[in-house]
Amino acid sequence: ESQNQSNAPELQKIDGIRHIIAVSSGKGGVGKSTIAVNLACSLAKLGLKTGLLDADIYGPNTPSMMGVAEQNPKVTEGSGSDQRLIPINKYGISLVSMGFLIEEGQPVIWRGPMLNSIIRQFLYQVEWNNLDFLVIDLPPGTGDAQISLTQSVPISGAIVVTTPQQVSLQDARRGLAMFKQLGVPLLGIVENMSVFIPPDMPGKKYEIFGKGGGQTLAKENDLPLLAQIPIEIPLVDDSNKGVPISISQPNKESSLVFGNLAQLI
Ligand code: ADP
Repeated sequence: ESQNQSNAPELQKIDGIRHIIAVSSGKGGVGKSTIAVNLACSLAKLGLKTGLLDADIYGPNTPSMMGVAEQNPKVTEGSGSDQRLIPINKYGISLVSMGFLIEEGQPVIWRGPMLNSIIRQFLYQVEWNNLDFLVIDLPPGTGDAQISLTQSVPISGAIVVTTPQQVSLQDARRGLAMFKQLGVPLLGIVENMSVFIPPDMPGKKYEIFGKGGGQTLAKENDLPLLAQIPIEIPLVDDSNKGVPISISQPNKESSLVFGNLAQLI
């Protein structure tokens, strides 16, 4: 609220989209994409019209997670700026990913203006139609892409993903500070890989990555700890199998946690 009006960017809404939720993390590998995908699936299961924008330009893996890596989105008729990308539909979700544009195995080098224009296309030149929720899988960290995105479109709320580990916390803190500075409302913290429950020992829990990280971060920032997702073996395979756990095994502990998260949002 303390933002200088003259410096505040003009945010441009996307026609037909009610809420935009950004899923972010301070660093890679903490499960941000897994959470974005399963949150989107859980919202869709609640009967909400849901889209997923995979803006993780450096590691766009939602197409593999959703089993559509081989597909190429079509473009509407017309020419130039009239043309719109038609999202791929899977599990009731409209998906657009940087992965559809990037050749597999090729290094991705974006320069500032190029990055900015591609992000704007992915927001505004897509045939999203009417959506209750658009979930955005942000790239990890606090770079140009995050700034570009949050300064283009009004984000209803951002979720910050962390593991219970101290090193992950430091990165998450930087992410939180960025959102505060940019005036993006924060929904809360999601702690991933909280505990490991061995499938053959249901009563037992192992805190492999330590404990309390999510809670600490939530307290420090006066935010809710929205969910604690356990480490589950089917989730490890999520990225390869093309069927997110909330679809393939809706009664698993993590699917239930994702379901609760969708309800909270
Ligand atoms: P990020 O988007 O933060 O880079 P990913 O969502 O790609 O992270 O997850 C990294 C790896 O960890 C993937 O192989 C994923 O399947 C796995 N993974 C993520 N969360 C869990 C979890 N709770 N239990 C087991 N494996 C997980």
